[in-house]
Amino acid sequence: MSDDRCKMTEELRPLTSVFDNRALNRSIAIASQSPNLRLWRALMIIDCHGHYTTEPKDLHRFRKEQTAAATSGGKTAMPSRASLKMSDDEIRESIEQNQLKLQRERGTDLTIFSPRASGMGHHIGDESVSLEWSQICNDLIARVVSLFPQNFVGVCQLPQSPGVPPKNATAELERCVKMGFIGCNLNPDPSGGYFNAPPLTDKSWYPFYEKMVELDVPAMIHVSGCCNPAMHTTGSYYLNADTMAFMQLILSDLFKDFPTLKLIIPHGGGAVPFHWGRFRGIALNNGRPELDAIIKNNIFFDTCVYHQPGINLLAEVVPADNILFASEMVGAVKGVDPKSGHYFDDTKRYVDKSPRLDDTARRKIFEGNARRVFSRLKTKAAVTA
Ligand SMILES: [Zn+2]
Repeated sequence: MSDDRCKMTEELRPLTSVFDNRALNRSIAIASQSPNLRLWRALMIIDCHGHYTTEPKDLHRFRKEQTAAATSGGKTAMPSRASLKMSDDEIRESIEQNQLKLQRERGTDLTIFSPRASGMGHHIGDESVSLEWSQICNDLIARVVSLFPQNFVGVCQLPQSPGVPPKNATAELERCVKMGFIGCNLNPDPSGGYFNAPPLTDKSWYPFYEKMVELDVPAMIHVSGCCNPAMHTTGSYYLNADTMAFMQLILSDLFKDFPTLKLIIPHGGGAVPFHWGRFRGIALNNGRPELDAIIKNNIFFDTCVYHQPGINLLAEVVPADNILFASEMVGAVKGVDPKSGHYFDDTKRYVDKSPRLDDTARRKIFEGNARRVFSRLKTKAAVTA
């Protein structure tokens, strides 16, 4: 072996102090375009936004019965948690045929994985119903992670309920972090489409944010299924909530009170990149700093934007330090784009090809930013060992 090859082997060796399952022989655009490839470690591609949308059938049976009982006015008994029948084989097959298969086909390494977002259903039943459902869904994610520790790491659903103080969700967050989870999905509208909860900047959120900071976990701002007939869940409700959250945050002092709080606004930030000038103008007119300064260490956007021009715009408008790679597979937008011949949610292609990104920016988006935002990822290896 030549000296050069020895050097490459040394450079490509995974760090032992951080969770690392990067493909050592990865051949991707960012690497092949670089004249300095031998000075770089192979990139680890972290998808920060995936949901378990291929759950075992019995989970749906349980939820149907739980929902029926919760809305029956006490006439129907709640199903027993012990009645759930979900074998490891069933879970394994549901992942291998779907999320894991797509990881391999698309060349990604690790998915930060949470329960089906549209299934959180915080508006269904009371707080106790939400807690039991959240615990079941989170335990299921923990089982997926234990079966595929190199490919998935957990983010939890919170047991929110309309009118219930967010601080009541801290115990479940803590339980999940002890199981190795590295973040949470936080619902800004537990009503399921009526937007009647206090804003994310309301003081009622502060005890929950204190716990997030103490545990060093970020939250993805993510609504659930929509029961308002005026909105389509993934087509408009999700994006409306993303846009709403950003506007709430940029006019507040939340990050003065919590300088290390990290929030991810998914789906490319809803309308934010396209209307950056509007948001920036409103912020400046209200005596706020430039948006880049407001978001710097606290607000991040993902790449769940399903076409090339959208990713190009996101990359042009939002600093690369504030963009995390994500696809939201499987299921937010299913199917193949007849124009491109590729899956709409194969977002790695758009990041690879965007002329607005250089190699340094791609490394941040694919790996570096996720490690910074999900800082508990570095301890995952120890937790799952
Ligand atoms: Zn999602």
